[in-house]
Amino acid sequence: MRLEIVKTGINGEGIGFFKRKPVFVEGCFEGELVDADLKDEGNHYTGTLRHIVRKSDRRVVPKCRHCFKCGACALMELDHRKQLDIKKELLQGALYKYAKIDEELDDIFPSKKIFGYRNKLNLPVIEHEGRLYNAIYKKGSNHPCLIEDCPIHEEGLEKMRKQILDVLNRHHLKAYERHEKKGIRQLIVRGFGKSYQAVLVTGSDVLQEDLVKDLKKIKHLDSLFQGINTVRDPVRLMPDKLRCLFGRQKIEMKAGDYKLLLSPQAFFQLNLKQAERIYGDAAAMIQGKKKLIIEAYCGIGAISMYLHDKAEKIIGIELIEKAVRDAQDNAKLNGFDNLEFRADDAAKEVRRILAKEKADVLIVDPPRTGLDDELIVTLLKSKIDQIIYISCNPATLGKDLDLLKQKYQIARIQGYDMFPNTPHVETVCCLYHQKKDFISVPYEPKNVE
Ligand code: SAH
Repeated sequence: MRLEIVKTGINGEGIGFFKRKPVFVEGCFEGELVDADLKDEGNHYTGTLRHIVRKSDRRVVPKCRHCFKCGACALMELDHRKQLDIKKELLQGALYKYAKIDEELDDIFPSKKIFGYRNKLNLPVIEHEGRLYNAIYKKGSNHPCLIEDCPIHEEGLEKMRKQILDVLNRHHLKAYERHEKKGIRQLIVRGFGKSYQAVLVTGSDVLQEDLVKDLKKIKHLDSLFQGINTVRDPVRLMPDKLRCLFGRQKIEMKAGDYKLLLSPQAFFQLNLKQAERIYGDAAAMIQGKKKLIIEAYCGIGAISMYLHDKAEKIIGIELIEKAVRDAQDNAKLNGFDNLEFRADDAAKEVRRILAKEKADVLIVDPPRTGLDDELIVTLLKSKIDQIIYISCNPATLGKDLDLLKQKYQIARIQGYDMFPNTPHVETVCCLYHQKKDFISVPYEPKNVE
């Protein structure tokens, strides 16, 4: 079937139409004419790309040879300007679809680095011709794509990954075998140029002392952990309990002016430079000194550090206990005694706090699923003056804004490119309670390029 591709889907796929139903085709872009085999899926078709009859003039040679097979960087074959335009369209489209927001958005803030921005990897380990490799499974596929090089990984991270695999191969380690419940299953590495922290997720193996000794010799590998996971199809591969094989429990890094400690279990933003920009911009949205700011879904508390002088008291809420302990240590490390962190569900703890005291500002930075219904109900009943919503998923942001706008006025929506070459968009949205007459938007981005 010959199709005209007219737009881009949320996973970076091309969309055309056949018999008035959308056809989703991976590997092609807006403006292209393609031949594809169609499969009827009810309300839409999926198309398998056969041939590109007319190519987009926005195509570039991808920097990664695994690009199509891996699937993580669905926009890598487009020039960067076009990628940003697509992200803006995706954000605009979701906000209109779910919240009927139709104002023209400003352009997406680009990332300083287009490649080499990712500070963490979390990849399966598989065996190929007797050697261990990292691999990636494209969504919905069980054919692994071997990763030889990844240009998205920060240079030092990529080097560290290869050195660790080399040592594992020198010691003839095997990939995980689910019947025996033994072998190396996943490699997780995080680091920031000079210091790296790695986790080997394994079966019920004991890692030999001479192997650990050789891993310890890798320059800048400051800590190594082992996590045993023999669950068949786990939701998360990294278990909660890790054994430290050597080095410090936490890695130390800097975001803006603030020192931060991170445990391997704690979430931290993957593109540090762009995260710093978002944190700084979110802080600039808060005018004057407040009494109480709540930061829900706070992770290791990075945003609270940026806000330390914006309120008499800041309460951060986070589900993962290890991350909460990191956040508490981070407040101490930076000498801030007005920050308090609590390990709990965001919706429950916000409700509890608001039952006792008034919060001036609430910052939320939820996972892709967006805000819990319970939290939205609490917010609609509350009189928090300002909400700053940091989102990594335009669809759930749109759905949540549609509800929040019953009581809150949307003052600003700004998209950021946190993950160049992928279709993901990060958004910061500033809302004010309608009881106040906020006409002008007190927001001046600090670091516009
Ligand atoms: N703002 C932080 C982390 C954002 S990621 C940063 O910039 O680093 C979202 C965080 O929400 C994760 O740390 C996750 O563990 C946490 N989380 C997920 N569900 C939660 C819930 N129901 N209540 C509180 N925290 C939650």
